[in-house]
Amino acid sequence: MTSRNQQLFEQSQKVIPGGVNSPVRAFKSVGGYPVFFQRGQGAYFWDVDGKSYIDYVGSWGPLILGHAHPEVIRTVQATAEKGLTFGAPTEAELEIAELICKLIPSIEQIRLVSSGTEAGMSAIRLARGFTGRNKIIKFEGCYHGHDDALLVKAGSGALTFGNPSSAGVPQEIAGHTIVLDYNDSYRLEETFDKLGNEIAAVIVEPVAGNMNLIAPKAEFLTTLRTLCTQHDSVLIFDEVMTGFRVGLDCAQGLYQIKPDLTILGKVIGGGMPMAAFGGRREIMQYLAPVGAVYQAGTLSGNPVAVAAGLATLKLIQETGFYENLTNKTRQLTEGLTVSAQKHGIDFCAQSIGGMFGLYFSKHIPASFAEVMACDKDAFNRFFHSMLIKGVYFAPSAFEAGFVSSMHDSSEINETLSAAESIFADW
Ligand SMILES: *Cc1c(COP(=O)(O)O)cnc(C)c1O
Repeated sequence: MTSRNQQLFEQSQKVIPGGVNSPVRAFKSVGGYPVFFQRGQGAYFWDVDGKSYIDYVGSWGPLILGHAHPEVIRTVQATAEKGLTFGAPTEAELEIAELICKLIPSIEQIRLVSSGTEAGMSAIRLARGFTGRNKIIKFEGCYHGHDDALLVKAGSGALTFGNPSSAGVPQEIAGHTIVLDYNDSYRLEETFDKLGNEIAAVIVEPVAGNMNLIAPKAEFLTTLRTLCTQHDSVLIFDEVMTGFRVGLDCAQGLYQIKPDLTILGKVIGGGMPMAAFGGRREIMQYLAPVGAVYQAGTLSGNPVAVAAGLATLKLIQETGFYENLTNKTRQLTEGLTVSAQKHGIDFCAQSIGGMFGLYFSKHIPASFAEVMACDKDAFNRFFHSMLIKGVYFAPSAFEAGFVSSMHDSSEINETLSAAESIFADW
């Protein structure tokens, strides 16, 4: 008997390339069929066959409050009743702009857009317009959305398919992008020595989350800041994933580094399509309509998306929110590690705030090459065994995982006992 899941996937492939609207959803990396979902509540979501799962993907990051948080839903409904879009400014846009500028001191001015891709693309154009330079530096395995300039040895879906660059990106555009190794300060210094006065911007995930999770070496981030300042290059922190995920003051607060521009997405939209880029006023003033760098969007600052974002940002400011989230995430990673190692499996894990990495490896990787050396087949076996037991991890060994505030000790313990029984039979 075929499940409704399988049926839907067969049908979808006829009208949607690969049956999905974003590549990593297709389960190509882990094999098998993607799961089609119909509803979510808190830490759980239900597929079209009625099976429930504990969700550690959280729509790839936005759902820090879990699925369908009642306050977020209420705000969204009330806002929608007053009209879905005006294509003109609203008071709520001012409110969220002021709030983000207050929570992230490096952001003096901010502009709202609809996706992380758009934010990354706009920040690069702005940095180029501001500096009058073309070259940018990015790091292998970091993903900053699918803009041409940034889809050069990108992570996430592109990495998962072992096809890091994309067809359709002109060499003339990719040629302006210099790709270096994450956490490699030496090569970075060398590159700046040679090309410093040509580099418009360095874009980096301050905690890399699109090649599994790679923590930054403190010295790597410090070097980045120093070199960009010395050479008048714009330091762009891509906090689309880490923003309000690793802590209320984001990765830049955690590591005490002030970027020139920051891009945000995921959590700030609370599950609706919203993202942003912002930073030093001097740079942001180069944007149209005040400056010469053009950037626009019909649905930018959409009222319903802003409402979801505001409701989310309000709830995450509650006392103890991140302490709780951090503790629960650590409980998960430590529990999995103890359980796997007890059964002699080469496995380790780490977490930063509400994001985590699982590695079928003896040691926690610190570079792209070390992540690539993890046992991908072991991960895939673990992924499918957990899926059967109703635990949904990201369908790829190269993605970070997420815990929400709705994951309680009972969900974490259920996850750990599912893993324990799998590791015991390994
Ligand atoms: C998800 C992500 C993006 C892209 O955001 P979209 O909204 O999917 O376009 C960019 N950068 C990072 C670090 C991300 O995790």
